[in-house]
Amino acid sequence: MTTIVYSDKYFANIGPHVFPAQKYRLVYDEIGKDGYLQSPSVQILQPRMPTRDELRFVHEDKYLDDVLGFRITPSTFSSELPMRREVVEAFLLSSGGTLVAAESAVTTKKSVNLGGGFHHAFPDHAEGFCFFNDVAMACRMLLKEKKATRIAIVDCDLHQGNGTAYIFRDEPNVFTFSIHQENNYPIKQTSDLDIGLDDGVGDDEYLKRLGGAIEQIQKEFRPDYVFYLAGADPFEDDQLGSLELTHEGFKRRDEMVVGTFCGADIPLCVVLAGGYSRDVRDTVRIHYNTCLRLFADDKDLKGE
Ligand SMILES: [Zn+2]
Repeated sequence: MTTIVYSDKYFANIGPHVFPAQKYRLVYDEIGKDGYLQSPSVQILQPRMPTRDELRFVHEDKYLDDVLGFRITPSTFSSELPMRREVVEAFLLSSGGTLVAAESAVTTKKSVNLGGGFHHAFPDHAEGFCFFNDVAMACRMLLKEKKATRIAIVDCDLHQGNGTAYIFRDEPNVFTFSIHQENNYPIKQTSDLDIGLDDGVGDDEYLKRLGGAIEQIQKEFRPDYVFYLAGADPFEDDQLGSLELTHEGFKRRDEMVVGTFCGADIPLCVVLAGGYSRDVRDTVRIHYNTCLRLFADDKDLKGE
């Protein structure tokens, strides 16, 4: 069984912007076209708004007052997104979607929020198109509800998960791992495990390095819950990055992450994170293929 969390309200009109806010709907539509949404093995859930208490699992009150008051301050300006109600609420709902997906994976073992992955958000400020650190909130929620005790965050977005690394810097029950392009935004924080790749790294080296890290996480940390930030921006034709993954490389990446953790019967919650390919259809295809890999383990569904 795979849970999909999605709402058309993840979209907000942010004007001409490198961030493709339409990708969420495009991925959902693509899954729908192939009939997957009708499968008894797929459960579709609506996201919900996070509560103030859930936001406070990660964020400071002063920042929440600013961002939820749609104020332009240094702490919100760094989002690089328009500070309007419609925009903040879309990202807030998408963050709540990660909470719904995270809880669902405890029982279904596999879930994907067709949004989320806002790993640059810090407790006291927004950064890099991220207002709320959804995965960090979800980790704290699962730990508090005792639905997980050892959580690994496998962050495969092109950019380092700097906000997440900072938030969990002193938290032994959450293992932060980031594989990213070293010579790129952001200013790096220290994750539990960082792999900073050189410009131009392609499928084989990426997957070799990732494979070693996953083995290390499995052996040494032994998570009982995993988040996978399946960022599409390591793609060879991405506008913000200089890694060179192909569509085939992304499929192998999904196989490595989903195959390893689902194969070990560990609940896995996937979020989309970034993706800025010159042709948005490439970003959509990468995210779509990640969903197909999740479905591939369900008996009545056959992945691509
Ligand atoms: Zn990114």
